[in-house]
Amino acid sequence: MAVVDPLIELRDVNKHYGQLHVLQGIDLAVGRGEVVVVIGPSGSGKSTLCRTMNRLETVESGTITIDGQPLPEEGKGLASLRAEVGMVFQSFNLFAHRTVLANVSLAPIKVRRRKKEDADRRSRELLERVGLAAHADKYPAQLSGGQQQRVAIARALAMDPKVMLFDEPTSALDPEMINEVLEVMQQLARDGMTMVVVTHEMGFARSAANRVVFMADGRIVEDRSPEDFFTHPESDRARDFLSKIL
Ligand code: ADP
Ligand code: MG
Repeated sequence: MAVVDPLIELRDVNKHYGQLHVLQGIDLAVGRGEVVVVIGPSGSGKSTLCRTMNRLETVESGTITIDGQPLPEEGKGLASLRAEVGMVFQSFNLFAHRTVLANVSLAPIKVRRRKKEDADRRSRELLERVGLAAHADKYPAQLSGGQQQRVAIARALAMDPKVMLFDEPTSALDPEMINEVLEVMQQLARDGMTMVVVTHEMGFARSAANRVVFMADGRIVEDRSPEDFFTHPESDRARDFLSKIL
């Protein structure tokens, strides 16, 4: 889909794992403030796509730019890129031996060189925003999965990213905890954050997404508004996928 003023732009991006052509000429632009939901069958390349956008994976050809800047190869540029692109995974990966507050403050102090006092104050604000102000001094193991994932979101936000990537953020959660995480993400979307979200939560896609990108076999097969996609999927692959999950 044509996007004015893209914050993220991938052009003809290709990647192999050995013989497997996992990303096959991906073209994708994400506008400022846009929420793009990526869906598709397991193994279609959704996680790989996310991981290329903050250079956790390299690509063989094509270009990726974030806010007009090509992704850096190595070194210092990479740290600042990672700061600009927040990522939340299925597994929360919190530091078990640090408090909730310290989990959120750590990167701003180490990477952004903020004063501990300032970083802690901002972290408390972010914990408030994700509904966890009362839990700042606990350790991750004392929290539920949904609460831990909300800490992970606050931790990513603490770096003031330009864009947030979410790779199946609710897939590891018990059903009763899914909504509290989706609600935080909804609020983030309403506040204008640019977001790329891989998820099987179709309710979230319908209500929060500006666009749905459907992937199959390393390609983007459809890239449309949620209304269009859910009511009139164009491809057999998408119709087949939707019939299995809806
Ligand atoms: P999805 O997130 O859509 O399930 P992935 O991006 O995780 O898909 O994986 C796409 C394909 O690439 C799968 O066939 C997967 O087995 C393969 N793959 C993913 N990561 C690696 C890796 N590090 N090495 C080799 N193959 C991989
Ligand atoms: Mg995946």
